[in-house]
Amino acid sequence: MSNEISRREAIGGAGAIGALGILSRFFESEALASTSTVNQSINLLELPALPYAEDALEPVIDKETVRIHHDKHFAGYVAGLNKDLKNLDQARQSDSFESVKQLSRDLAFNASGVVLHWIYFSTIGPNAGGKPAGKLDSLIRRDFGSFDTFWKQFSAASKTVEASGWGVLAWEPFSQKLLVLQAEKHQNLTSWGCMPIMVCDVWEHAYYLKYQNRRAEYVDNFAKIIDWPEVEKRLEKYCISK
Ligand code: MN
Repeated sequence: MSNEISRREAIGGAGAIGALGILSRFFESEALASTSTVNQSINLLELPALPYAEDALEPVIDKETVRIHHDKHFAGYVAGLNKDLKNLDQARQSDSFESVKQLSRDLAFNASGVVLHWIYFSTIGPNAGGKPAGKLDSLIRRDFGSFDTFWKQFSAASKTVEASGWGVLAWEPFSQKLLVLQAEKHQNLTSWGCMPIMVCDVWEHAYYLKYQNRRAEYVDNFAKIIDWPEVEKRLEKYCISK
């Protein structure tokens, strides 16, 4: 199926996008990704298809890790978020908010897990790596001094996340700046309002089969699969005021 076609080709032309159907859902329509409803008040998400073959990220990330990560872990967060949305809808309908504290915690965890995995899988790919260009390049230079300095900060942040979490390049809309953040789990240490545009998953499930405890090696190699044109599209779509 569409796994054989690179995302760069897919994004390259409207005809290609039309031919790929579900692939376009990963990026073009993600804000409207719902495809089913329980009732009028909530929308549920569908797991987006992996936009490349399971082995397309080798040798940086092995096929088995990509398959389990997407089909089990990412799918689990989508299912978890849908469950949380249903439970909260039920709470409103029954006017019963005794469990709202736990439901709110679950919602923050699963919704953040969905967003970060969505961004992760759609901003890495085969035939990627290198450095950003254009607007993103100039913003990175403005806000970090140079790409090399940015990468030193981003990779150091990713390597030093305590336990499970993420390195995050995000757009901070109030100061109109790019920031590097860490996330613990999916939702802790965030800065309100920031939109992640490129993320490095440093949960062990993202690298352990190939790298075991060598997270730093995984993060260093992660540079080879960042799809910077996709990151820039995300910046342009969500972050930069027209
Ligand atoms: Mn993950």
